[in-house]
Amino acid sequence: MSENAKKGRLIVFSAPSGCGKGTMLKEILAAGNYRLSVSATTRDPRPEEIPDVSYHYLTKDDFSSRVERNEFLEHAEYCDNSYGTLLSEVDPYLENGVNVILEIEVQGAQRVRAVRPDSLFIFVAPPSIDELRRRLHKRATEPEEVIEKRINKAIEELTHQDEYDYIIVNDALEDAVNDFFAVVRAEELKTAAEK
Ligand code: 5GP
Repeated sequence: MSENAKKGRLIVFSAPSGCGKGTMLKEILAAGNYRLSVSATTRDPRPEEIPDVSYHYLTKDDFSSRVERNEFLEHAEYCDNSYGTLLSEVDPYLENGVNVILEIEVQGAQRVRAVRPDSLFIFVAPPSIDELRRRLHKRATEPEEVIEKRINKAIEELTHQDEYDYIIVNDALEDAVNDFFAVVRAEELKTAAEK
């Protein structure tokens, strides 16, 4: 790649569980030059998940040694498990001009803001807490107490939405996806002075 070639954009995409981010991401990834970073986690795989595609599933020990070796761009605790973005999932792609999306929770987003302030920070919110509760129960991939824990976590995460550059309300999927592309386009059109 030549020195003047355009680097990809790092996009932080946060949404509490049940905001429909999975479906949104599927549409976004199908539409263009985006790659979703595969995170590392210490949580167990869900039945439908595929190792090294959905997540890199690590033992707690492996996760900690990688933290010590500075292999992570960011990492955080969420509902009793560790989650983190490996640098190897991000930098080689940005260098090649690919836009990289990090689908991470709010503490991780705060860390990325500290180390990569030029990134684009997008928060996806549910139309209402009642709708979020309904979606999580409908999904039913977790036991009741885990669902309750995630609902409480989601309510807490919603208090951080103003820390993001843009908030997209995912009421209708197509509108939310169009809003995502509009936001990325707006960012591309910003003058250097505003950046
Ligand atoms: P889940 O267990 O539902 O897949 O993910 C739980 C939460 O962890 C979600 O809010 C998700 O965005 C977040 N998460 C997934 N990967 C990462 C990561 O690499 N870093 C951080 N900080 N959070 C992550």
